[in-house]
Amino acid sequence: MNVTWTLGFPTGNEKGQYLTMDLGGTKLRVCWIKLNQRHGQTELDQDVYQFPSAVKTSDADTLWSFIADSLQDFVGKRSLQGTAENPLPLGFTFSYPASQDYIDHGVLQTWTKGLAIKGVEGEDAAGQLRDAMAKRNLPIRLVALINDTTGAMIASAYNDPDTIVGAIFGTGCNAAYMENVGSIRKMKIDLPPDTPMAINCEYGAFDNAHRVLPRTKYDVAIDEESPKPGEQSFEKLSAGLYLGEIFRQILLDLYERQVVLKGQDATSLKQPYALDTGFLSALENDPLPGVKAQFAELLKLKPTDEELWLCHRLAEIIAIRGARLCTCGISAICRMKGIKSGHVAADGSVANKHPTFKQRWAQAMGEVLDWPQDRKEDPITITSAEDGSGIGAAVIAAMTEERARQGNM
Ligand code: BGC
Ligand code: MG
Repeated sequence: MNVTWTLGFPTGNEKGQYLTMDLGGTKLRVCWIKLNQRHGQTELDQDVYQFPSAVKTSDADTLWSFIADSLQDFVGKRSLQGTAENPLPLGFTFSYPASQDYIDHGVLQTWTKGLAIKGVEGEDAAGQLRDAMAKRNLPIRLVALINDTTGAMIASAYNDPDTIVGAIFGTGCNAAYMENVGSIRKMKIDLPPDTPMAINCEYGAFDNAHRVLPRTKYDVAIDEESPKPGEQSFEKLSAGLYLGEIFRQILLDLYERQVVLKGQDATSLKQPYALDTGFLSALENDPLPGVKAQFAELLKLKPTDEELWLCHRLAEIIAIRGARLCTCGISAICRMKGIKSGHVAADGSVANKHPTFKQRWAQAMGEVLDWPQDRKEDPITITSAEDGSGIGAAVIAAMTEERARQGNM
């Protein structure tokens, strides 16, 4: 769990204009955002820069050059005027585990979600970005480095005071919540004990020692074949990057044992990560002819109707396990904090695109937290997170600037 230096929820009065940038696994999103206070009309202008896939396994210099060039392109195109005295404020969403000594600092602990860029782990990502911007004389000032979960929580709280948690159920999985500084025991923080501080749980790394959760041989294989064996154990059982891969491993095993797809050429099924969560969603939901066509197109395979039903059931089991584990992450926070009601602001492809995720998550929440069977409505619900890496990053940058104006850290 990491302290984030996001000190409390927004008042809703935050305003101003901010640059934001979100470094995802495959693309970089840059936004120019005008905040107009809670329930005001937030204006947003954005560009998406596709990551050349070589960047993913390159080095720090290649990564930050790509980012700084994209920022330069973005502000250039819009003639955004920053000056050396009055630089454009930037909120940077960095969706990886980072140790922060202050809000515009973040030492990358380890890459997750398959990234393997040399020379960033153990280094201050904020400092590296600052250096790359300085080389180009970009009139931009990095104000805050944030996690996507903190962004989701704060963006949602900007408009919805019932927000209790920000969560990502996407390529990776994780959540953030608000803690009191006095309850943070792992480090000494020079702030009054009742100061609220957002905590980034990084629970994707839960059970890395493999002491608690049962794993199948497929889970073990995925871990061992990943760039980071023994890391992000919980994430590997539940997040979008892996759900399709779990399915592929199982189907391939059944094929190799000659249980299914007998006599067919399964070369495409041998390609790691050939299937994504979208494929599993289709298997659960689409009528047989549609799924058959997908099998033919993606894998050059012709399953029988019976085999398709088996695949359908497999997809269901994998998604149910994932959703119920996601519930455990959030219910643990609610239990520890004694939170009985509120909104879990969730973002990510699994939350938004998997058709049965939210319903399964909610059902498991009721079981874990012992909600009455005859309840009229669920006390804790998933809401769609507002744009965390855009609006969230902007609101946190605004909160940070406001604190600086008041002379607080
Ligand atoms: C990262 C977290 C992030 C989550 C969701 C995980 O792999 O470690 O920092 O919040 O993915 O994007
Ligand atoms: Mg993201």
